[in-house]
Amino acid sequence: MSLQEEIKIRRTFAIISHPDAGKTTITEQLLKFGGAIREAGTVKARKSGNFAKSDWMDIEKERGISVTSSVMQFDYAGKRVNILDTPGHEDFSEDTYRTLMAVDAAVMVIDSAKGIETQTKKLFQVVKHRHIPVFTFINKLDRDGLEPLDLLSELEDILGISSVPMNWPIGMGKNFQGLYDFDNERIEVYQPADGERYVPFSEVGGHTLSKNPFYEQAVEDAELLRDAGNEFDKKAVLAGELTPVFFGSALTSFGVQTFLETFLKFAPEPGKHKTIDDVEIDPMNPDFSGFVFKIQANMDPKHRDRIAFVRIVSGKFERGMSVNLLRTGKQVKLSNVTQFMADTRENVQNAVAGDIIGVYDTGTYQVGDTLATGKLKTAFEPLPTFTPEIFVKVSARNVMKQKSFQKGIEQLVQEGAVQLYRTYTTNEILLGAVGQLQFEVFKDRMEREYNAEIIMTPLGNKTVRWINPAELDEKMSSSRNILARDRFDHPLFLFENDFAMRWFIDKYPDVRLFTEFNV
Ligand code: GDP
Repeated sequence: MSLQEEIKIRRTFAIISHPDAGKTTITEQLLKFGGAIREAGTVKARKSGNFAKSDWMDIEKERGISVTSSVMQFDYAGKRVNILDTPGHEDFSEDTYRTLMAVDAAVMVIDSAKGIETQTKKLFQVVKHRHIPVFTFINKLDRDGLEPLDLLSELEDILGISSVPMNWPIGMGKNFQGLYDFDNERIEVYQPADGERYVPFSEVGGHTLSKNPFYEQAVEDAELLRDAGNEFDKKAVLAGELTPVFFGSALTSFGVQTFLETFLKFAPEPGKHKTIDDVEIDPMNPDFSGFVFKIQANMDPKHRDRIAFVRIVSGKFERGMSVNLLRTGKQVKLSNVTQFMADTRENVQNAVAGDIIGVYDTGTYQVGDTLATGKLKTAFEPLPTFTPEIFVKVSARNVMKQKSFQKGIEQLVQEGAVQLYRTYTTNEILLGAVGQLQFEVFKDRMEREYNAEIIMTPLGNKTVRWINPAELDEKMSSSRNILARDRFDHPLFLFENDFAMRWFIDKYPDVRLFTEFNV
């Protein structure tokens, strides 16, 4: 296959959902169809959906599992599929946001009984911002849920996206009969009596199903949708303006295979990616380029090696190739690189634009780094960072261990595990996070991986605002705010609360505050 053909068959996506909607169950089903796992349960082993802290630590101890499952690759129907896993727990949503920068499409799983939930809503905002296509799977049809038409309305009303059903449930819960599959013009029978799982529309008249009241209702709904609903429009789907909706039941593996096939038919091939000077890099560009969207500590916590996950944007990866690390301007050699074929890690056979490779890292890379050969001289657009909401002050318990303490902080910050700040004049270390669990994992990893016990003093919630250095006077710092600098030395205030911030604004009406550094 030519490089172009290789790239054209890549399909790279992430599954987003609120915990418990069924993301893990669907992922396992997809892997099964791809021949990647023989039994369900493999992905479950590392499920981080509703875990308690202790579960997380145990999972972390078995890093092997989590590293290999972060990216799952398999071949199906002539396509090479890359599924990127995203942590379920909202405390790690920053990780998810960055992962969403590395995919070309998203699959949104919704629990039919719950409709759109908070975490789905949050993650959808990121997807929407990137204008990538979103495919919706409404799950758990084997149980009673909301009315299908109401679920479609929720997509429109809560998420603000138009929808087009690709199939329609015939009954649900105890009365679930199957799916009316518009796209394939057939009925998919939930409990086929004589192995007749698929009944083409043309033959349904002779089938017992045609006398079923739920079937009649579905046909009525389908007609209504045909008259009043949205039409399938591939262009609108690819622009992220219209979401194709599939109903199904992951647990009973019903409707999942049809979903996969239809998804692969319409999901986009690898897309272009923008640099900071607004140039779009085409995946077919033969020069290799890519960016680091995630760094994960490696299997053995005693070794401080890590894996930098690189989304290839253009060209082809070749073992041992030298690439430019644009942040430092240095050449790095990509020799120790893995690929994620299903549940094993393998040396890379063939990785091209659209694929994810894992680069062995001893501290060279940071989240957001651009790697490139050839003419690309400006980095890709930065990954989104999220303004932390809670803060702690940290110091080393044992002053003799300053060195490992510093090293640990530096590396974990590079991984994007937490965000680092220092008090402006006294240089004390402050950490910011979106969720408390990030601090707990940080503390645990500092001890286990860097042998550095830390003292962590909670500072609680803060409102963060950056300030133009030219407008800063150190006297502005008071008991109600902390003056600090971020890791790029940009000054900012951590206000006790919004009230303290407004008080500040009243007192210094000419000083401008920013929600991010943009001077
Ligand atoms: P995740 O947190 O989104 O990864 O959700 P899981 O895949 O772990 O599923 C959460 C729970 O819902 C588990 O108990 C699953 O067995 C169950 N579940 C998943 N899919 C279905 C389904 O189609 N029907 C029913 N009845 N339960 C399901």
